Amino acid sequence: MSIRLLAPEVASQIAAGEVIERPASVVKELLENSLDADAHTVTITIEEAGKKLIEVADDGLGIPSSELELAISRHATSKLVRSDDLFSISTLGFRGEAMASIGSVSRMTVTSRVEKEKEGARLKVEGGKSSKPTKVGTTVGTTVRVEDLFYNVPARLKFLKTDVTERRAIDSLVTRYALAYPDKRFKLSEGKSITLQTTGDGDRRAILAALYGVDVAKQMLEIMAEEEGYRLTGFISPTSLTRSNRKEITFFINGRWVHEISLSTALLQAYHTLLMVGRYPMTALFLEIDPHEVDVNVHPAKAEVRFRNQDKVFSFVQRSARKALLAYSPVPNVAPSLWGTTRTVPSETKSTVELDWAIGHGETVSSDQLSVNRDLRVETNPQSPISNSQPLPSESSRIPLLRLIGQIGGTYLVAEGPDGLYLVDQHAAHERVLFEKLMAQRDLKNIPSQALLTPEVVTLPPQAAQLLLTQLPILQHFGFDVEEFGPNTFQVRAMPTLFTGSDPSTALRALVEDFEEDETPLQNEIEAKLAARVCKRMAVKGGQALSNEEQRALITDLEACDSPRTCPHGRPTMIHLSVELLERQFGRRGAR
Ligand code: ADP
Ligand code: MG
Repeated sequence: MSIRLLAPEVASQIAAGEVIERPASVVKELLENSLDADAHTVTITIEEAGKKLIEVADDGLGIPSSELELAISRHATSKLVRSDDLFSISTLGFRGEAMASIGSVSRMTVTSRVEKEKEGARLKVEGGKSSKPTKVGTTVGTTVRVEDLFYNVPARLKFLKTDVTERRAIDSLVTRYALAYPDKRFKLSEGKSITLQTTGDGDRRAILAALYGVDVAKQMLEIMAEEEGYRLTGFISPTSLTRSNRKEITFFINGRWVHEISLSTALLQAYHTLLMVGRYPMTALFLEIDPHEVDVNVHPAKAEVRFRNQDKVFSFVQRSARKALLAYSPVPNVAPSLWGTTRTVPSETKSTVELDWAIGHGETVSSDQLSVNRDLRVETNPQSPISNSQPLPSESSRIPLLRLIGQIGGTYLVAEGPDGLYLVDQHAAHERVLFEKLMAQRDLKNIPSQALLTPEVVTLPPQAAQLLLTQLPILQHFGFDVEEFGPNTFQVRAMPTLFTGSDPSTALRALVEDFEEDETPLQNEIEAKLAARVCKRMAVKGGQALSNEEQRALITDLEACDSPRTCPHGRPTMIHLSVELLERQFGRRGAR
């Protein structure tokens, strides 16, 4: 094949591919343009999760009618003049590419007016071809209407996820921008339903509630730190509030949402030893820094940046977050434990505090440890479920009959078996027991359900509510009787008998809190995941005193489990100290 220059439409579609990946990317570019134009109010309307329509209207400075055609051409920008400017960018846009890119993969209408002109102008672009601007009567500001995104790039359309997922990406983007710009008014709606509306009164916590729900928003810790030209504000979750993935770690740098690995790493270091392995904090952090200190021109969608002084930024973020955590959280005592590993214990054990943040077992094992630690590690490493890492392969994963000795620290049960001592984490163990019972009942297609005396009404954040709606049929299987009861509101009328006495709204929230994407996993997987999540919330907590009968019942139930050694999330439920191990430790055997 001979070398040819690409046809302009092809070239521009290729370029568009870098910036415009999905409806949410359109929303992001348009929203950023509105913010750059000093808009105070930004109104976003979508239809069919943005696939049919995305309209962003603002009351910003507008585009002079003589420049409208230019605005939609590639490499046309009002924000950058000389190449030097690239290193001191204080606007969100600068590449002059978004409008052209969007116009090449959709039917786009731009209407705009500046204060100086009496009339505005309107322009249509379809698949990259634009009409001549016409005059129209309109208010000052800009409205960009994007219809039939990717109508001319069917391959892209195929890559889009379900409406629920695409809509969620838009919701979460707009909500985060609203958080970053609490002084601006944002409104996001689809059809008649308003997903988000902010007042522009500067109150970030109220917006946080729209993102995570009131309960979570109340618990989030506020950060305000300043140091040598750096400023960090926003929120981080306390150690008791975690997620199973990093998706809720949000960073803005100079008003731009970025996915900056180094910042996430700095943040996770701040939480080091305070979170269980595999758990991540939720954050909405806003870093402000001299534009000269950061290069934002390293990624086509501007999602990554480079810092001139990476170490300094890293250390600033890490220290600020750590300080906030220690200032608000119950200070963990790092006490050397009996076996040389260290673990955190709360300075005050409140019965309501879930000891979720106990250190990841085996994480802090140092090189000069006694041999016993290696043995312990084999048994407790959460990454390798016990059944796969048994030192003796013949040993079944079931546990022998145990004799209960008692409870320590209101958190662990101590028991004796024929082969040594067992320390059982009551929360993890109860999670396992509930999970296996629930799954067994489900397999028999018979989950006993109990009607609540008074149905409980629960209001969820919009995203969570959307998600729950899609899961309602599955909930029926599980013995939950839940009905939609108004916008974002549900009524719980019955719960599985297994959870009798527990709080229905906690159960409902648990069902949606960690739900990831709806990439149509197998029904069975969803169900197991849902079950595991509810059981975690419903299980007894660490720090909760149990009666003798309750302790015994828990041990008996655990003995009956198929996989008693780990909780449904793969963490250990118990530490087993074999007779041999004890003998070695006491010098009765081995060396000497
Ligand atoms: P960039 O934002 O990188 O400059 P865009 O393609 O997004 O590139 O926009 C091109 C130009 O169009 C901008 O530089 C700006 O002058 C103008 N523009 C786009 N959207 C708006 C808006 N909502 N309000 C005012 N001007 C806008
Ligand atoms: Mg732009």
